[in-house]
Amino acid sequence: MNPAPEPGLAFQLKLYGGAFGAFSYISRRIALRRRWRMSEQALPGKPRRVPMDASGYSRRRFIGAGAGALAVAGLPAAARAVTNYKGHDVIVVGAGLSGLHAACILQEQGLDVMTLEGRNRIGGRVYTLMDVPGKPEAGGEWMGANYARMIDTSQRLGLQMLGPDEASDIREWCYRIRGEYILASDWESHPLNPTEGDDRRILPHRMLFELSHKNNPLSGQPLDAWITPEFARFDIPQTHYLKEYLGFDDETIRLMNVVIHTDHMDNTSALHEMRRYAVGEFNASRALANAGQPAWVQIKGGNSRLPEAMAASLDNPVELNKTVYAFEDKGKEVTVHCMDGTRYTARQVICSTPWPVLRKVKFTPRLPARMERAIDEIDYGTSIQVHFLLRKNFWELDEMPGSMWTDEPFERFGVHHRGPNGEATSAVAFINGNEAYKYDFMSDEQVSEYTMRELERVRPSLKGALEPIGIQSCHREVHGGGDWVFWRPGQVGQFAAHMREAHGNIHFAGEHTALMERGMEGAFESGERAAVDALLRS
Ligand SMILES: Cc1cc2nc3c(=O)[nH]c(=O)nc-3n(C[C@H](O)[C@H](O)[C@H](O)COP(=O)(O)OP(=O)(O)OC[C@H]3O[C@@H](n4cnc5c(N)ncnc54)[C@H](O)[C@@H]3O)c2cc1C
Repeated sequence: MNPAPEPGLAFQLKLYGGAFGAFSYISRRIALRRRWRMSEQALPGKPRRVPMDASGYSRRRFIGAGAGALAVAGLPAAARAVTNYKGHDVIVVGAGLSGLHAACILQEQGLDVMTLEGRNRIGGRVYTLMDVPGKPEAGGEWMGANYARMIDTSQRLGLQMLGPDEASDIREWCYRIRGEYILASDWESHPLNPTEGDDRRILPHRMLFELSHKNNPLSGQPLDAWITPEFARFDIPQTHYLKEYLGFDDETIRLMNVVIHTDHMDNTSALHEMRRYAVGEFNASRALANAGQPAWVQIKGGNSRLPEAMAASLDNPVELNKTVYAFEDKGKEVTVHCMDGTRYTARQVICSTPWPVLRKVKFTPRLPARMERAIDEIDYGTSIQVHFLLRKNFWELDEMPGSMWTDEPFERFGVHHRGPNGEATSAVAFINGNEAYKYDFMSDEQVSEYTMRELERVRPSLKGALEPIGIQSCHREVHGGGDWVFWRPGQVGQFAAHMREAHGNIHFAGEHTALMERGMEGAFESGERAAVDALLRS
């Protein structure tokens, strides 16, 4: 094995200082802002903050309308105009984790926030399949020990966590490579294993992570080091980096590429992957620091319970089925236009939709040229999941582990063990990257049929064992765009530091704008930053 190096204390402090230094910086900015707002509350007619209630987030209450009206009469004209403003303080577009976190912070600070969501459900890329046995996660799945904001919010909202043992998900894999089945115990000595030395002990499903992380230049650096000029020389194709810097051969790279979260390693900046593993290393260091706590957790009852609880804590209920197609910034207020013909106005907007969605959204005035290019050119990783009910324990017939990691078109087939005693509950074929594009030419039914046919072809014991119950794919959905943002070679330097720049009264949030954390915690980081930016302008 080639385990990730155990971080020393200095290293841990550096990382800790990186992520949580920023966190406390933001907290300080909020505290300053809060003090400012509290002094404002001496003015009658202004929102008054009250302590947190049982929902976890504090609830905003207003002074009685009569007292407010009297007070307004005594204010100068400019202040009266402000107080009489009919729109909302802030409209948040998108009820994923980033938008909801921003909305909750702004409400806590006494602002009137309206949240508009295009889908008919809360949560965006966090989506628990509540109707499937075992309630598997079809979107954001694991929270790392470094997910400080997300874990804190879950705890404040009274949600419980499950570690990997309790969540008992996919267990042991068998491997199918170049048409041959290989058991984990045989991999080290198997002739199809292309690696050398200690690397031979790394199982195929761990190769991408463990080999990519070797000699990672970002290791031990602050979490936002990836956007600094010092590392710009690694904004090159990942394949080139793996060959020229780490000396891996084509077959090793081919196997690493099977489950790449982007589209292909040729198209992925090495810096993007280095950052991914540096954040993973930070997670490992946090898990070490919290000895006894699992490194990865999920929310008991399904991760969707978190965004749902956050939405329930908002005074203004999230408006569903409100697909936004245009923003009109008139200087003093922004009008947000929805597909159902409704319009909303606010002094400021936080737009948390995935970047690719904005290709179809109109901004007046137009976005700066760099932002327009970023929206056009930045893509998200693709994946498609085909979920199945299990009709029989097919693995008992061929005596191999039920879950397969393969270089076949369906890539991974996992059996979920999410029953109360670890029983098998459902299964999923999970296809990432370039392979997923092919499925764009198929209807949902064709995807299920094709995948089942391929599975039965390579594993005869699966015949009659599977019943398709649905497919899930963010990049197929109009409100999705893909799984996670990824950076192509050269894009980190061009765009990464600029994704969070406000356009007039419109701020941008979303996992793609986070500089330190990634995935769900990145969404929280970005929501917090956008909320503070909006507060500082309100
Ligand atoms: C399969 C999969 C597995 C993942 N696994 C993990 C994991 O294990 N750990 C991890 O940390 N992360 C994981 N992620 C990533 C994580 O889920 C996301 O990074 C995070 O949830 C993104 O949150 P967000 O608020 O930035 O965006 P979103 O959740 O996408 O929220 C944006 C919201 O905007 C809405 N919207 C879009 N367009 C419009 C419009 N025009 N008008 C109105 N509303 C609109 C969307 O419907 C959505 O609700 C995974 C993602 C996927 C897809």
